[in-house]
Amino acid sequence: MEENKLKNTKFDYTSISDECVKCGKCKPVCTIFNINQDEATSPRGFIDLLGAYERNELDLDMTAKEIFESCFLCTNCVEACPNDLPTDMVIEQVRSDIAKKYGIAWYKKLFFFLLRHRKIMDLMSRLGYVFQTCGLKINKEQQSALPKFSLPIVKKDRALPYADAISFLNKYPENLKFSVQEASKNKVAIFIGCMGNYAYTNIGDSLIKILKKLELDTVIPKKQLCCGAPAYFTGDFDTVDYLVKKNIEYFETFIDDVDAIIIPEATCSAMINIDWVHFLHDQPQWKERAAKIAPKVHMATKWLENNTKLKSMLEATNNTFDQIVTYHDPCHAKKMQGIHKEPRALLSANYKIEEMSDPNRCCGFGGVTMQSEKYHLAKAAGMPKAAMIKETKAEIVSAECSACRMQITNSLHQAKVNATFKNPIELIADALD
Ligand code: SF4
Ligand code: SF4
Repeated sequence: MEENKLKNTKFDYTSISDECVKCGKCKPVCTIFNINQDEATSPRGFIDLLGAYERNELDLDMTAKEIFESCFLCTNCVEACPNDLPTDMVIEQVRSDIAKKYGIAWYKKLFFFLLRHRKIMDLMSRLGYVFQTCGLKINKEQQSALPKFSLPIVKKDRALPYADAISFLNKYPENLKFSVQEASKNKVAIFIGCMGNYAYTNIGDSLIKILKKLELDTVIPKKQLCCGAPAYFTGDFDTVDYLVKKNIEYFETFIDDVDAIIIPEATCSAMINIDWVHFLHDQPQWKERAAKIAPKVHMATKWLENNTKLKSMLEATNNTFDQIVTYHDPCHAKKMQGIHKEPRALLSANYKIEEMSDPNRCCGFGGVTMQSEKYHLAKAAGMPKAAMIKETKAEIVSAECSACRMQITNSLHQAKVNATFKNPIELIADALD
């Protein structure tokens, strides 16, 4: 029997397993259970198995690996559980053991290497931009691309993001003076996120446009690195450790000079606000440094709605659009950070919003593993979301999350639903014209 390696980690699986009252309230909302109705792939099942693993009654064999890698980390179960059991976090924890035992696939290792090395990633993105038309059919309207042929990891007929000509971080100077009063001290920093930096660059352009209208001085910290979320969800804790600490050291150099670090991405902001502190639980000095940064880090719509006159500016434009917008709640926004009213409040100034039957249902993105070797699960989990978007007859689906964007754009393509995805920041900037 394999020796349990988790004695020093934060979560004690046995006590969490003991706290599970087996009520089953988590099962109907569980993303994986809804597409694979097996008790083992339910929150209650995961917790049971982790208890057995801690008691050394369960080997971390290939079957257990498959099971623990099938969780979407959507946190639906945490919201439904009467005891708030952190199923997502215990799964994240065991994935580190899985990565140590089985290693990490070469393409994920390459991806995480690039996330650590911004300059090489910039070069790869630039090369990707130059050569991508050889392998991709690009649809600029949808901001997605279809592979012209199948590869081992990515099959044909799958809508994917593609690289933009120049990354957001390389496009602008570091300091943008937008205030008209010389003495203005208000300043915000932008953390853009990797997908917004390389693929969906219009989000950052739109955020700059909004901040300019608000006359808020803006800093674009050039040395920001990935928040670490892709590696965290995959169990590559060495990469997470590296990225989190590099970012903390860097943020500390400017955090006192800005009112806020704003992020137009649910996953990055939840990672920095919540998961950094959890990740650093056994490194108290680093944990304290992360906790000092967190209060200044905000999702963009929440900060703009609560701290600026943006909504009244939007109302004053008298711009109204005929297109119907439906808003999807990213798991990392509503369930993790309680953010759902703010994007709707800003969008409703100029757009007609038609709610889908369950905006809170996970889109099925699930992370790097789910988007590669377990793509069949992500595809299946995406279909109900595409169907409920279709029912609204909306032409635009919006969510403040580029992972949701990648997944929902593909789900719409698979289900042949004619709707376009936009980040709310893009829609808000359009309304300010
Ligand atoms: S995080 Fe989501 S997919 Fe994972 S067990 Fe909970 S509800 Fe199911
Ligand atoms: S809702 Fe919570 S207590 Fe109930 S079965 Fe699920 S994990 Fe256990």
